[in-house]
Amino acid sequence: MKHLVHDRKKCLKCAGCVGLCPQMALDMFGLDLQIDHEKCTRCGLCTRGCPVGALQITEVNDAQ
Ligand code: SF4
Ligand code: SF4
Repeated sequence: MKHLVHDRKKCLKCAGCVGLCPQMALDMFGLDLQIDHEKCTRCGLCTRGCPVGALQITEVNDAQ
């Protein structure tokens, strides 16, 4: 299944992605981006909008 992954080391804490998400699955708490994986539909909008590629959709093995 697909999974949205956030790289905290790359992230500029710009919060640009928060407003891009149609599901409101992203939020900034202080300087930490939080992903609500229940709300996220893995649409990829935020991954394309992030200026540094800190958000990526990856395939995860269900068996793991
Ligand atoms: S758009 Fe990218 S750099 Fe900006 S807060 Fe979101 S993940 Fe971090
Ligand atoms: S992949 Fe889509 S639904 Fe998930 S956080 Fe990004 S913009 Fe929102």
